[in-house]
Amino acid sequence: MKTTIKEIPINNLLQLIKRFPNEETCREFLIQSRWGDVPVCIHCGNTEKIYKIQGGKLLKCPKCRKPFSMKVGTIFEDSALPLQKWFHAIFVVSAHKKGISSCQLARDIDVTQKTAWHMLHRIRLTMSTGSFVKPLDGIVEVDETFIGGKKRGYGKRGFPTDKSIAFGIVQRDGEARIQTIPDVKGNTLKSAIRENVSPDSIVMTDNFSGYKGLDKEYKEHGVISHSTHKYVDGIIHTNTIEGFWSLLKRGIVGIYHHVSKEHLHRYCEEFEYRYNSRKLNDSARFGLLLSACNGRLTYKDLIR
Ligand SMILES: [Zn+2]
Repeated sequence: MKTTIKEIPINNLLQLIKRFPNEETCREFLIQSRWGDVPVCIHCGNTEKIYKIQGGKLLKCPKCRKPFSMKVGTIFEDSALPLQKWFHAIFVVSAHKKGISSCQLARDIDVTQKTAWHMLHRIRLTMSTGSFVKPLDGIVEVDETFIGGKKRGYGKRGFPTDKSIAFGIVQRDGEARIQTIPDVKGNTLKSAIRENVSPDSIVMTDNFSGYKGLDKEYKEHGVISHSTHKYVDGIIHTNTIEGFWSLLKRGIVGIYHHVSKEHLHRYCEEFEYRYNSRKLNDSARFGLLLSACNGRLTYKDLIR
């Protein structure tokens, strides 16, 4: 019987510490969630009489006589940090609605800010590999936005070179897909939409020229004319994705102060994850993320 996230009722830090009071309980969790009661030798596939060595830090196979770690194939694999610190970091990342800065995490778990920064990036990477493979459908809102940079006064589509471009697609009452894109050319926008949106969807955009022609590829293309200050016309609007942008921007300004161009995609992934798991409670969200760190579970598995 494998450990599923439903068996980890952890809604706050006290429960986390109670459930994982030491390294041994963390290691046992990795073993259980990966192999259940019968660990498998990663070298030869033997399942018989795998035993613990070095005080439980490693497993050893009696058949091929090679040791292996329960951390192999997880985001903890080449980290010397205690698993308890990792589990704590994963919990706070999943529980804090607006994200957590590396400075704050460093203080919380007593590591250097640099270490905390690397941990956060790894956890975000895990969030991004969640399996969001099902195309979006129904009514889908699409928009792009410029983020960061020091220069002010550019128009929204004025191609300011020191800003990054985030591209977002949100299914109403569904999931979001957020990515960074190199430019706002029609081909770039449309190929990102094609990758994520089912053709029988109704696509909502503003009247930017890059979105022209979507009516030929999708069931319908609703256009709201932001340039004439119109924002809602019946079901035609992009308010959901606009709301997402304001959350993302507030999060970046409030928590991270600024985000460099090369790292924006990770923050986008983190906010995408947070948005897509918004209906889960802290415990389920933590379990989902922890399992993903353990290389085991995807978002799809959870909501199934
Ligand atoms: Zn073996």
